[in-house]
Amino acid sequence: MTTPLTITAHDALILVDVQNDFCPGGALPVADGAAVVAPLNRLSSRFAMVAATRDWHPVDHRSFVTQGGPWPVHCVAGSPGAQYHADLDVSRVTVHVRKATRAAEESYDGFAGTPELAAELRARGIGRVFVGGLAPTTAYCTPCSPRGAPASTWSS
Ligand SMILES: [Zn+2]
Repeated sequence: MTTPLTITAHDALILVDVQNDFCPGGALPVADGAAVVAPLNRLSSRFAMVAATRDWHPVDHRSFVTQGGPWPVHCVAGSPGAQYHADLDVSRVTVHVRKATRAAEESYDGFAGTPELAAELRARGIGRVFVGGLAPTTAYCTPCSPRGAPASTWSS
């Protein structure tokens, strides 16, 4: 049985890491990653609040193989790979979150260390958060993002 989902003024959409490096051709691609762009663009127009996260690493980030970490160098701050996918509609995004911006910091959670996002959610009376986007390591990144939100609803 499926219950129709109604999006209300108290819902927010968070676009997670829809970045070039996580799309085919990028440094750490998700297979068919660009396929999330069109549905997310359709969805975002239905939400009163839209936020977006990006990995935004220094060149010596601890998660990189070059530093003994597990991942290839990806989403280096300011690089083309760190940009949003060119077709992603970010025109309605009010909060842009940059994650893991310091060498020693890893953040698989869009809310961790981002009081700005939490504050915006509270200020707008957001009670439910929908999350969509890319994570080459899905088990780490995307499911973690709702943690720390006022309330969480997982939507893939
Ligand atoms: Zn990363």
